[in-house]
Amino acid sequence: MTRDMDALIIGAGFSGMYQLICLRDRLGLDVRVLEMGEGVGGTWYWNRYPGARCDSESHSYCYGFSRELLEAWEWSERYPGQAEILRYLDHVADRFDLRRSISFGTRVVGADFDAAANKWVVRTEGGDVYRVNFLITAVGCLSSANVPDLKGLEGFAGDWYHTGLWPHEGVDFSGKLVGQIGTGSTGIQSVPVIAGEAGHLTVFQRTANYSIPARNAKLTDAFKAYVKANHPDIRALMHSTPNGHPFAINPRRVFDVDDAERERLFEEGWAAGGLQFRAAFGDVLVDQAANDEAAGFIKRKIREVVTDPGTAELLADIDHPFAAKRPPIDSEYFEAFNRDNVSLVDVRSDPIAEVTATGVRLASGREFALDIIVFATGFDAMTGPLLRMDIRGRDGVRLADVWAAGPQTYLGLQVAGFPNLFTMTGPGSPSVLCNMPVAIEQHAEWIADCIGHMRANGIRTVETTAAAAEAWGREVADAANATLLPKATHSWYLGANVPGKPRVFMPYAGGMARYRAHCAEVAAGGYPGFVMGG
Ligand code: NAP
Repeated sequence: MTRDMDALIIGAGFSGMYQLICLRDRLGLDVRVLEMGEGVGGTWYWNRYPGARCDSESHSYCYGFSRELLEAWEWSERYPGQAEILRYLDHVADRFDLRRSISFGTRVVGADFDAAANKWVVRTEGGDVYRVNFLITAVGCLSSANVPDLKGLEGFAGDWYHTGLWPHEGVDFSGKLVGQIGTGSTGIQSVPVIAGEAGHLTVFQRTANYSIPARNAKLTDAFKAYVKANHPDIRALMHSTPNGHPFAINPRRVFDVDDAERERLFEEGWAAGGLQFRAAFGDVLVDQAANDEAAGFIKRKIREVVTDPGTAELLADIDHPFAAKRPPIDSEYFEAFNRDNVSLVDVRSDPIAEVTATGVRLASGREFALDIIVFATGFDAMTGPLLRMDIRGRDGVRLADVWAAGPQTYLGLQVAGFPNLFTMTGPGSPSVLCNMPVAIEQHAEWIADCIGHMRANGIRTVETTAAAAEAWGREVADAANATLLPKATHSWYLGANVPGKPRVFMPYAGGMARYRAHCAEVAAGGYPGFVMGG
């Protein structure tokens, strides 16, 4: 089948769904969404691992574009669990009648720009072809699972799973010997839940990680009423903060206060829980000495919680600044190591050499018998989901070649040589450093405004220039270098978790509020940095 349409969106997660509303219902375009999964939800469709829950507070982890939607939906907990978020997105799909414009179970394998026709020609695995004026990738930043290339995995007699591709029917851990590799945000969420079900859980830790107690709880009626009554103010606050969260970062500096007051304020942040701890001071992510204070506080907490001194030392032996990697938040993660059926293995000093038929063998020869291996090993982030499709721009140039030394975009939204292609939450945008729905709504609206502007003015192509992308690349690097973020040299922000991936700091760390203002200025100023043609 070959179809001609105005626009095609790849992905029906938070971003693709809202982009569809913007283009179909507001601009009246003939548009389709192609989605690999059998339902909407993106990240929340695939990540069904035990303990999967969002780190953003529920009243901020939702769309804000519709007052009616905000008022119709009520969250049950402070942090929404995977199942509740999926119910929410299903509700949005029903409410805005999105499913009729989405093809599920449809994987895009390639897209070529046909310059003569000024069309993107998009191919699906099933052999369908779409010829469209605008192509929008809404493929998510963390959707390409990273399974380490471990020797012997194919011969493992037990079962293994990646958290980001979790079976919908769930996994029965009861009485099983389970090994989990990875202690990032995902692994830190899954450990306590798997520990509660498994016969024994062995956690293979390569890099120790900070984590803040989430302090999840059912929302009270009073809080729900406060949210309902204050939507506009809450949204305004979220739009004013660098990370899009509904609480401000306190501007005071760590050394503005004396030791006792600093301890009290850290305790207050610790009690508030989650990402609010990071917001207790304004300089934690820019000043190493300030960061050391926050890091020291968390390490003391780890040692207080974990009873076995050797395990506590391994968990607190953290080699990077606090929050330089995405800071996980947890429900009883460190406490889980006090259980008799949980053990911690350091695979930094003694790496995994191979997977055997019956378990895992370390370089030293130590062996662990396992029935199930859980890979909480993260993703080929930001560029992975784009590069696994064969996208070719002008003159058949492959995106993979253009980005061979690392991604280059203007505003994270466009790549030079790829006209009329928009990359939602792409590398170079704040995306993963921001509460995602806030970043997503801004992108969807900016893209829709840009396409609306083009249609109103008879413009057929929009394409950023190499100079604009290079200049923006420097801004992205400068913004990161003004913080401690690049000091976590093994972080996925830098692509360091995927062997062979170029080390480029990918998200824009200058803050969502500043980015939003910059994008608005670009649009108001007639789109400098973009060439409008035809
Ligand atoms: P991640 O942060 O990349 O963590 C992967 C973990 O696997 C790390 O501990 C890593 O160790 C380890 N690992 C990878 N390969 C390994 C190997 N060959 N041997 C031993 N260990 C290995 O991935 P993630 O935890 O899935 O989180 C990714 C991102 O998803 C988060 O940063 C966050 O943005 C998002 N997320 C959000 C939520 C939420 O909102 N609640 C929940 C989960 C995830 P090294 O550190 O040594 O590389």
